[in-house]
Amino acid sequence: MIQLVKTVEEVREIVSQWRKQGLKVGLVPTMGYLHEGHQSLIKRSGENDKTVVSVFVNPIQFGPNEDFASYPRDIERDIKKCEEAGADLVFAPEASEMYAGDFSTYVDMTGPTDELCGLRRPGHFRGVCTVVSKLFNIVLPDRAYFGQKDAQQLAVIRRMARDLSFGIEIVGCPIIREEDGLAKSSRNTYLSSDERSAATIISKALSMGEKLIENGEINAETVLKAITEKIESEPLARIDYVKAVDADSIEPIQTISGRVLFAAAVYIGKTRLIDNFIVERN
Ligand code: AMP
Repeated sequence: MIQLVKTVEEVREIVSQWRKQGLKVGLVPTMGYLHEGHQSLIKRSGENDKTVVSVFVNPIQFGPNEDFASYPRDIERDIKKCEEAGADLVFAPEASEMYAGDFSTYVDMTGPTDELCGLRRPGHFRGVCTVVSKLFNIVLPDRAYFGQKDAQQLAVIRRMARDLSFGIEIVGCPIIREEDGLAKSSRNTYLSSDERSAATIISKALSMGEKLIENGEINAETVLKAITEKIESEPLARIDYVKAVDADSIEPIQTISGRVLFAAAVYIGKTRLIDNFIVERN
């Protein structure tokens, strides 16, 4: 039977019992409103003996004009999805449990946070790194699971885990998509039916870019231009960024060589969606 807990103390108690039995623990951090993307991470964590899913809409990773207040929440539904996917424990704290009134310690990063969403959402990765550090310290997992859907976040967390010697294996998991290609996201629930149709332009444009590279294109700018034009052909879409960067350092690149991340953030109406692909070429 899956368990729901809301305090740090309860998580610590349960996980320490597991540890005493020599069990391996996986952690899947989420903001809830779970879908098959999240469930794929939970299923992958089946390689551990126990899986903890955190469900926490982290206030400090949202900017002042972003969707913290309206972000979809449904903990009962989330618990069912966690159970279905094989999780053992759901940690769903209140904000006050995570952040004392005089909370004043943050984990900040330079480098992989300087481009893409880091550039467009100041303070976002400071919030992400801080909450993930807290979750790592609370759960003390052997492994933690993150989706390639948030490719920059995955690169940032890998860097943080290494730099701060967390001793936790970071496992990246592939992007889960709807049948028409749209990357699954809790934010897709914001889309009207017209916007939902329009949103497919993002994955279509990225797939087209990927094909250009498969067919031999090595100039990133050429690929970015083709992707941009395709997205701009959709009247409901407004590009926030379309960029090519090194997949690990998140530094901009010109020639496609090594592991390159092509990432896009696009507003469909008022909803900001992200998607990406990675190519490897030596
Ligand atoms: P979120 O709840 O959006 O913060 O996401 C929690 C975790 O699930 C992050 O590691 C995401 O990258 C991952 N995730 C979200 N959507 C998908 C998806 N469509 N495919 C794979 N992983 C995903």
